[in-house]
Amino acid sequence: MKMIEDFNFRGLRAIVRVDFNVPIDKKTLTVTDDTRIRGALPTIKKILNDGGSVILMSHLGRPAGREEKYSLRPVLPVLEKHLAMKVKFAGDCLGAAAEAGALKPGEVLLLENVRFYPEEEGKPVLPDTATDEEKKAAKAELKVRQKELAKTLAGYADVYVNDAFGTAHRAHGTTAVIADYFTPEKRMFGYLINSELAAMDKVLTSSRKPFTAIMGGAKVSDKILLIENLLERCDNIIIGGGMAYTFIRARGGKTGKSLCEEDKLDLALSLIARAKEKGVKLLLPVDSVNGDSFDAEANTEITAADKVTDGWMGLDIGEESVKLFREVILASRTILWNGPMGVFEMEKFSKGTTDIAHAIAEATSKGAFTLIGGGDSVSAINKNGLADKVSYVSTGGGAMLEYMEGKKLPGITAIRGY
Ligand code: AMP
Repeated sequence: MKMIEDFNFRGLRAIVRVDFNVPIDKKTLTVTDDTRIRGALPTIKKILNDGGSVILMSHLGRPAGREEKYSLRPVLPVLEKHLAMKVKFAGDCLGAAAEAGALKPGEVLLLENVRFYPEEEGKPVLPDTATDEEKKAAKAELKVRQKELAKTLAGYADVYVNDAFGTAHRAHGTTAVIADYFTPEKRMFGYLINSELAAMDKVLTSSRKPFTAIMGGAKVSDKILLIENLLERCDNIIIGGGMAYTFIRARGGKTGKSLCEEDKLDLALSLIARAKEKGVKLLLPVDSVNGDSFDAEANTEITAADKVTDGWMGLDIGEESVKLFREVILASRTILWNGPMGVFEMEKFSKGTTDIAHAIAEATSKGAFTLIGGGDSVSAINKNGLADKVSYVSTGGGAMLEYMEGKKLPGITAIRGY
């Protein structure tokens, strides 16, 4: 597999799939957070510095066909500012052959939202009345057109670079299918995907023990595969957030009106049993901050995590749980964190998540390798100004989750073959 750092782009046109799916202020049509744009700069600059030219393609949001509010135009001034140069824009990603062909070394062309074409995702938009047969036929037809889209875009360039980690788990035209139109010598990952893969592989194959995984968030059902894969690898699994109450209830605790997935109680028990079998320590909260409603202004009480008062709901982990978890975190040498410890969006229920974020930063300062993934844990880290105090903050929520579950990501497999 070609590595971007070893490749010389001189005189070549590179088509680069980036993740410019950035938040945009609807009124001013300006980018409100340019983290993802900055994430793509090292790859873009490398190609330009080598003397190549760059064609950028990305999606933004979920447009139903061509919808101007999902245009990538607002990205243009931000990109120009960061690159300190003019960037060209093609308003139609599939009609840009001439603009792409005219690119000179050192120039950059940004293509309009690739999702303006349903071929990109390959998901047909059909009326609810469509029969299964019709759905199947429409999907097959769109798959053919998806190949055509990929071929057209591939025709713009000599080299394909995928640097959009956030969509690496999607088998879309620009994230996976397009790779088939380049020989293995002419396709590669950008710096961002390489660093994401390195961070995740470091955790998954780590010999730096103890390895602690901290899981949180709303539902057990979303994290089953992740927990199962981690049971094979880690020494400790800390479970907090809404999903903890399903485990507590399964063990016979009283969880009041807390989130609980009744149909996952048996599964929770089997995960507890499997952890025991494998010698993995599974830690659950011992105390709970409860609210009398799911509301930022709710009245609160603190109880043992398995003695939540009837009618109340557990919305954060309590201080005793923080103490217990902190001790394990500080003794760990590899840490993965995915999912908040409580409803951290509400001030009254944010302390558990904040305290755990600080404990992870402290463990990092003592030499632990710490990987943070998933939108909410990442925003908790950012909110507390800790992004520079942990080892790696992943840019891809869903993609990271799937990779850590042990799944093959189409965008990754398309380039490296596994
Ligand atoms: P996820 O997307 O599964 O990582 O879940 C994140 C969401 O879980 C956040 O919006 C949190 O507010 C929510 N959450 C965390 N803890 C709880 C809890 N104890 N009860 C209800 N929701 C929770």
